Amino acid sequence: MTASLGEFDLIARYFTRPVRRAVLGVGDDCALLPAPTAGEQLAISSDMLLEGRHFLPDADPEALGHKALAVNLSDLAAVGARPLAFTLALALPLAEARWLEGFARGLLHLADAHDIELVGGDTTRGPRNICITVLGTVPQGQALLRSAAQAGDDLWVSGTVGEARLALGHRLGEWSLDAAAQTATFARMDQPTPRVALGLALRGVAHAAIDVSDGLLADLGHLLRQSGVGATVNADACPASPALRNQSAPRRRLCQLAGGDDYELLFTAPAAARNAVQTAAAQATTAVTRIGSIDAQPGLRLIDAAGQVLDNAYVGFDHFRSA
Ligand code: ADP
Ligand code: MG
Repeated sequence: MTASLGEFDLIARYFTRPVRRAVLGVGDDCALLPAPTAGEQLAISSDMLLEGRHFLPDADPEALGHKALAVNLSDLAAVGARPLAFTLALALPLAEARWLEGFARGLLHLADAHDIELVGGDTTRGPRNICITVLGTVPQGQALLRSAAQAGDDLWVSGTVGEARLALGHRLGEWSLDAAAQTATFARMDQPTPRVALGLALRGVAHAAIDVSDGLLADLGHLLRQSGVGATVNADACPASPALRNQSAPRRRLCQLAGGDDYELLFTAPAAARNAVQTAAAQATTAVTRIGSIDAQPGLRLIDAAGQVLDNAYVGFDHFRSA
């Protein structure tokens, strides 16, 4: 295998596969997809991963392929859309076979697991940058929107939160994790699991949803502002993995409440729907935990297990505010 490939060899070798639901895939000026069936809407989202900003130059290419698609699938999950197709815009300093093989393996493995097909994209030379656009479908009026939370709703989160931030802290030298905690949390940071099945199961059950990418409280803030409501969150109710349970309370709270990159779903549902939420979670084989409630009074109130009010110093990540 050659060490360096031309643009068209590269596209043909790594990113061209037979079409499935698409009418026309990679190779022409546009891909063609059948129009959504009557009563369905298309859900569309893009996310970019930039070297030096979202990943390090020595990041494992297979994990990166997985993560680039996972963060996009997470956006489909957050509206309850079913994955359909995606495009890949890729800038690379060099067309290295070893890197491309790993990247394509991670990317297409996750794509197959979610029955989403790569239908096109663009490839250019430049600082490494991966931009994916996903398309999904959702029945009209059933998308889970950030703006749909109602006073009196329960606030729920899927899985566990804070592990990606715990891994990041170790990598940045803020603290040091033992070998077992490194294994558990690095996998979480590098290869997040998009909660697609849960998003689908919550259609018609949940009111509002958002995926946790910038930090639990920061992302909750977006949801509250767009819904015109407030919330009370019990910091001690946030579900923690064993690695996080071994940390001090301040560090655990920092990771869980301010840490991004977990890609769990944060959602609201009427209190009367608690059983339906648990049924949806069981259907999606994804644990969910009730961590608070939505209030008519705007703002975010953070409490501990004893009901004591905590300071909310847990701002999330903002690309133009953080160094
Ligand atoms: P155009 O010049 O019309 O933009 P390109 O030469 O850039 O077309 O791309 C040729 C074909 O390969 C197109 O069908 C495009 O969608 C596809 N393509 C290019 N890069 C990628 C990629 N990284 N992944 C998947 N498909 C790609
Ligand atoms: Mg092009």
